[in-house]
Amino acid sequence: MKIARAEYNLFGVNTYIVWNPDSCEAAVIDPGMQNPDECAHFKQVVERMELQITHLINTHLHIDHTLGDEFVESMYGVGLMANDADAALGASRGSQAAMFHLRGVPDTPVTIDINIKNGDKIFLGDEYLQVIEVPGHSPGSVALYSPVDKFVITGDALFKGSIGRTDLPGGDHGTLVKAVTNELLTLPDETVVYPGHGPSTTIGAEKISNPYL
Ligand SMILES: [Zn+2]
Repeated sequence: MKIARAEYNLFGVNTYIVWNPDSCEAAVIDPGMQNPDECAHFKQVVERMELQITHLINTHLHIDHTLGDEFVESMYGVGLMANDADAALGASRGSQAAMFHLRGVPDTPVTIDINIKNGDKIFLGDEYLQVIEVPGHSPGSVALYSPVDKFVITGDALFKGSIGRTDLPGGDHGTLVKAVTNELLTLPDETVVYPGHGPSTTIGAEKISNPYL
């Protein structure tokens, strides 16, 4: 499985494309495209890489991670996979937009088409991403783990040198620390961490140096 990153919108969200190089089936994770220019950029990348977008996955439903959901759904005819515990957040995208004083961005409710939960495997051809529930930043936050290719997409649960904020609706600091400690830091040290914002890191590096854990 291969992975590539693009950074979109004023929150600097990392949008990831994960694909099977044999079948060219690809998953878009946290599409953050905020405007037509960013959507056009994404479309170009997909065309240049000759990928077929077969999955759309959100690590969680905060507005900065969902701004490109409608574009991906309509452009590629895919439904949204996310954890049901974030359904209320998806329904409240309008109030999230108001809270951050965002104008001219998608602010209609986000609807989950397929619930993904702990242990689920999302297949791209014969390769897969495994769903790991990491609640705390939001109730339904998930990470997506490739044990074969040794990487994990952590959304806003775990960053290089930090963890997610827990002051937004549904956040809980103790829950987040427990989930990251029990579910992510127990992965092999060499696992590369691809967070929802900022640079990548490894599980081993965060175990040693992350001051929040
Ligand atoms: Zn978030």
